[in-house]
Amino acid sequence: MVSKTIICDKCSQEIMIKDDLVTVTMFFEVIPYHEGCYASDLKGTGSFFINSRPLNGLSGTISTVISILFGLWVFFYTEGSFRLIALFFFIPILYRLYSYLAYERHLEA
Ligand SMILES: [Zn+2]
Repeated sequence: MVSKTIICDKCSQEIMIKDDLVTVTMFFEVIPYHEGCYASDLKGTGSFFINSRPLNGLSGTISTVISILFGLWVFFYTEGSFRLIALFFFIPILYRLYSYLAYERHLEA
């Protein structure tokens, strides 16, 4: 496994442990923050492009699971072009996966 330095987007300091990492989607990118930097800077500033809810941690995992279940439900219980709607529910899963591959797996638990 290649170790990678994760730099907080706010304070430009290295993020050392997984517990201190908060990943957020911003303009379709996944951005890493320290938990403290996230709390002081971003919490509550959600919009269409800036989704200020964290991707990682328990809340991120729960919303990913809900997205998967809802996406599957839409896919299996609708027909034709409605099925395309299911794809939108799978987008958060891609972000969640990217957050893990790009940042979380490089940090100590
Ligand atoms: Zn920071």
